[in-house]
Amino acid sequence: MDYIKFYTRHGVKELKRAGKGYMGICPMHDDKEPSFSVDSRNGFWNCFGACKKGGNTITFCRTKGIDIKESPDSDPHYSNYRYRGGAEK
Ligand SMILES: [Zn+2]
Repeated sequence: MDYIKFYTRHGVKELKRAGKGYMGICPMHDDKEPSFSVDSRNGFWNCFGACKKGGNTITFCRTKGIDIKESPDSDPHYSNYRYRGGAEK
């Protein structure tokens, strides 16, 4: 799912399937063990570590200072969404 690609591209490391969602290393605090959870169906994230924050991909962009155009959720036509530097035809 593209949400996982989005978070991986923006610094979430080692995102792996865990239960209903995914867990990875949070890029926003000094994370020692995966505490960043992503729901791959709706793109919502939650950091259970030091951040204690969460939201959708737009919130993630704002928190991390990424242009919200990078967020799959900022584009109502999801299929038009392109990752920066991604394979564009
Ligand atoms: Zn965190």
